[in-house]
Amino acid sequence: MSETTQTIFSKIIRREIPADIVYEDDLALAFKDINSQAPVHILVIPKKPIPRLADAESGDDVLLGHLLLTAKRVAEQQGIAESGYRVVINTGPDGGQSVYHLHLHILGGRQMVWPAG
Ligand code: AMP
Repeated sequence: MSETTQTIFSKIIRREIPADIVYEDDLALAFKDINSQAPVHILVIPKKPIPRLADAESGDDVLLGHLLLTAKRVAEQQGIAESGYRVVINTGPDGGQSVYHLHLHILGGRQMVWPAG
């Protein structure tokens, strides 16, 4: 098994460890962040194990668009579409990425500050 298929998120996709899943389709999964940083904090991940945004390829264009639209749908489902929210992709060490399976953070339910830090 490759390094990327052993991340904690791949285990969540395979239902080997539990997660509070709020959305799933053929390409993507969304679940609550275990260490929530806002009243709403959801992670959207591709089922394909792309480690970092930096590893995405031109053939992933449809998938990447799907992840953004999934984030939009999840935000609507969570009731934060009108109040607003932030979508974050941490990439690599300086980006603060800790799990090397591409994921979008959806943060909402409170006022976000900028710069993010
Ligand atoms: P990042 O630092 O951008 O790589 O974000 C990884 C996120 O995954 C963090 O916000 C963690 O709290 C979250 N996380 C780690 N393990 C789990 C888990 N088992 N279930 C849900 N979220 C997790």
